[in-house]
Amino acid sequence: MTLHLPTLLLLDICVLALLGGLMLHASRRSEGEATLGWMAGMLVLASLGTLVVSLRGVGVDNLSIVLGQALLRLAAGLGWTAMRVFAGRRPCWPGIVGGALLWVLLCLWPHFMSSPPLRVTVVTLLSVLYSAMAAWELWRARRQLQAAIMPAVALSLMHALFCASLLLVDSGQAIERVWSGLDDSFVTWRLLEAFLFAIGIAFVTLAMVRERAELRLRAMANCDPLTGIGNRRAFMDVAQVLLAHCQRVGSPVALLMCDLDHFKQLNDRYGHAMGDAALIGFGRVLAQSIRQSDVCGRIGGEEFACLLPDADAAQAELVAERIRRECHALMPGQAQCCSVSIGVAGVAQAGYELPRLLALADQALYRAKANGRNRVEHYAEQPMPG
Ligand code: GH3
Ligand code: MG
Ligand code: MG
Repeated sequence: MTLHLPTLLLLDICVLALLGGLMLHASRRSEGEATLGWMAGMLVLASLGTLVVSLRGVGVDNLSIVLGQALLRLAAGLGWTAMRVFAGRRPCWPGIVGGALLWVLLCLWPHFMSSPPLRVTVVTLLSVLYSAMAAWELWRARRQLQAAIMPAVALSLMHALFCASLLLVDSGQAIERVWSGLDDSFVTWRLLEAFLFAIGIAFVTLAMVRERAELRLRAMANCDPLTGIGNRRAFMDVAQVLLAHCQRVGSPVALLMCDLDHFKQLNDRYGHAMGDAALIGFGRVLAQSIRQSDVCGRIGGEEFACLLPDADAAQAELVAERIRRECHALMPGQAQCCSVSIGVAGVAQAGYELPRLLALADQALYRAKANGRNRVEHYAEQPMPG
């Protein structure tokens, strides 16, 4: 199959410019995500660079070679930066302009300009370098990126490998044959690969950015903004899953319902900011007092709950007492201590139903309040009157 070089160039220039414009639009819509802006820059510069390169043969050959390839190297620098920024690192300007600058400096050397093999070798090596660096940026930060990065890593590596292998096949003669009108098959395939890579990496980047934004939104929707622990919805969702698992394997579960004592007074006396600080501190106490397999959440204003899988009444008592003691240290140096009342219920009384566990733990909490606060009470069946 033969590809028509001028058609391919025209398609390349138009599609890259169009994609660049769309990416710029997407970047302006997604506040706080600079990756798309860098990617838009890459696409627009790649389109411009291809346009300038394709002007070769209309009397501005040297300008077309120097400027066109400089723009394409700059585009590669922006593509690398898009991945770097996505990985949470700052743009590195020497790295961005380094490739283009090296190219322009080398072009000032007459021997370089008159040697297509040298020029092709430098251009190809720079392409390999930028693509490999883009893949490396994602790979080194893969654990924190919260998005599927493998398509982008694979695309960048494939592009780097393709470019590297070109050096083995051709070292510049093919380019000269094109402009002498002899044979353009090799160059059209090379151009097609670069074109497909640019489109592919643009879409993959868009998908990565979207995926991460979605995950962050979901995390925000599940997190209590004041204390940073799960909110009511997150607690209920996770607790349901844990309970279902414990029911399947028949293990015990305990639920602690915690309510800070006289919190209204504390707010009135020390101000709302101090109340908030106590809530934040209590959230930290809870998170530090439970195991990784347990779950806690802020289920109301100054009400918190913990579900402890595999915990019997004695273990639940230990955890609740630890929480109660730690709560005292939340307001050091103040006349009024922060204290908490905790109600405990287990599946032995409530079964594996979350609403019933919550209701029974709430009853135990009510008893803890009635019995003087700052204490832990277990749910117990009330003796029938009479
Ligand atoms: P009790 O010992 O019976 O639980 O008394 P209490 O004062 O703790 O309970 P009450 O339900 O009367 O008051 C709860 C208070 O918690 C009232 C409300 O202003 C306060 N509160 C709820 N959410 C927040 C919050 O986000 N920040 C602060 N600072 N206070 C909050
Ligand atoms: Mg309350
Ligand atoms: Mg209270």
